Formats: sequence, structure tokens, C-alpha cells
Amino acid sequence: MARTLEPGLGEVLPLAGAVHFPLAQSMNSRLWGQHLRQALTVLDVRLWTSAPVEYVHPRPVSVQVQGQQVAYDAVVLCTGSDTHLLKRLGIALPCMEIAGYSITAPVRDPLQAPRAAVLDWAQQTSITRLGQRVRISAGAELNAPAQAPLHQPTLQRMYALLRDWFPGGAQLASPHIQEWRALRSFLPDGLPALGPSPHPGIWLNLAHGSHGLSLAAGCAQALADMLAGRPCALDAQGLHPGRFVA
Ligand SMILES: Cc1cc2nc3c(=O)[nH]c(=O)nc-3n(C[C@H](O)[C@H](O)[C@H](O)COP(=O)(O)OP(=O)(O)OC[C@H]3O[C@@H](n4cnc5c(N)ncnc54)[C@H](O)[C@@H]3O)c2cc1C
Repeated sequence: MARTLEPGLGEVLPLAGAVHFPLAQSMNSRLWGQHLRQALTVLDVRLWTSAPVEYVHPRPVSVQVQGQQVAYDAVVLCTGSDTHLLKRLGIALPCMEIAGYSITAPVRDPLQAPRAAVLDWAQQTSITRLGQRVRISAGAELNAPAQAPLHQPTLQRMYALLRDWFPGGAQLASPHIQEWRALRSFLPDGLPALGPSPHPGIWLNLAHGSHGLSLAAGCAQALADMLAGRPCALDAQGLHPGRFVA
């Protein structure tokens, strides 16, 4: 069955079994971001990009950008692994930053490349088809300084996994290969912090670990309900930041 769904799976792969999620989907996060941006523009939402927020003030709730302070009814902090603004507000979440890697390569032969997404649970690896490209994500690196060179043993392991799982599927010597590392922020229970901060009018949507993209739309829906004072369509009680922040 697994080989019927993914004909490119390597023959030498010691496949003990596989679980198929027929309703699961994968997507291109950058493209999704661009579509969201277009949709927001149509709604007359004003987007400020490449403008670091210097402060978020709790009283009155306001945001300071380029020295200019603007008041808002509510502010949602979704600052990923950057904790500067949280610290200035005295919010101390026990976040741990773990870097992860991805390699994106052009498809070599569509018949040998993945059709959808495959997860290797033992290796904590995902291999995904992104149009004319294949992406593998893996790796868990603690305390990696931002300027440190990429960890070559991790990258070599990922190239080997890609070769084993989908031999001949990706162009692994292409000049268009992209190797990438980024931080993922985790809380001790592995769940995000979603909901009110200790400061009225300031909300948190943080620490999504390895699943920020999968969780984004649901978290946004729950947060929109909370901000509007409606009952939450999704039960987000277990994600309340108060489980870590008093
Ligand atoms: C290799 C790898 C593979 C992954 N694969 C998947 C996957 O398959 N599926 C999935 O669901 N998730 C995946 N993730 C995780 C996902 O990328 C994250 O969970 C997600 O990006 C978190 O989104 P976020 O918006 O909370 O934080 P971020 O994406 O970190 O965004 C936070 C943003 O806030 C900005 N910021 C911070 N402080 C300020 C400030 N003071 N002023 C202005 N801007 C500020 C930062 O510059 C940044 O752009 C992966 C992560 C990695 C590293």
C-alpha cells in the first residue's frame, strides 16, 4: 500500500509498516504567507514589514515602532524565538530554542520523487513534495549561535535519508539546492502559549515548536474568538499562557 501511494520509495528501505492519513495535506508555507498577505491587503489591513517593534507598552496598550508610539485596543505578541519584547514586559516563559534544518532540492525525476509528504518517525524527519522541488526537514540542535556554520553531519545525514527514501528523486548536486537552519521555540509541555498575558490587552501566540504552520490557522481562530469575547470554537484552555506565567 505504501509503495502504491508513493511509488518512488526506495527498494532498500527497511519498511516495517506505514500509517496513511488520507485527509492529511502539506503546503508551501511561503506561498501561503504570500496569499494571506494579498488577502489582508484586499481587506485594507495595514502591514508594516521590516520595522522592528521597539517596545510594547502595557498602559495604555501601545506599540512603539521607529520611535513612534501608536495605541491599539489589543496587541498580540507572536515574536517566535525572539524574547526581547516579552522580557521588557516582565513576561518570563520557560522557552527553549532548538534549531532545525531543511534541504530543498529540485525534482530530478517526478516518478522517483515523493508525491505528497512522508514522515520518518524514528529519524524525526519529513520529506515533502513542493511543486517542482523536494524538501527534507530534520535535526535538533541546542544552543547553536546564530552565526555558527551549519552542522555538516546533520546535513549529510539528511542527504543520505533523502537518497534512501527517494533514490533518484531529487537533484542532490544541483546549484539550486537550499540548505536552511532556523530556531524553533518550545515550552516544556510541547504546546504553544495562546491567550492573555498578565497585562490586560496584550495577548500571546508563541512557542509553536515544530508545528507552527499546522497550528497557525486554528490558533488564529481561537485568538480571534478570545479577543472578540466570544466562546472559543476550539478548546484552547490547555494552551493558556497562565500555566507558566502568573
Ligand atoms: C527546519 C524547520 C522545519 C519546520 N517544519 C515545519 C512543518 O513541517 N510544519 C509546521 O507546522 N511547522 C514547521 N516548522 C515550525 C514552524 O516554522 C514554526 O513553528 C513557525 O514558524 C512559528 O511561527 P511564528 O509566527 O510563531 O514564529 P516565527 O516564524 O519565528 O515568526 C516570528 C516573527 O516575529 C518577528 N519578530 C520578533 N521580534 C520582533 C520585533 N521586536 N519586531 C518585529 N518583528 C519581530 C521575527 O523576525 C519573525 O519574523 C519548522 C521549523 C523549522 C526550523
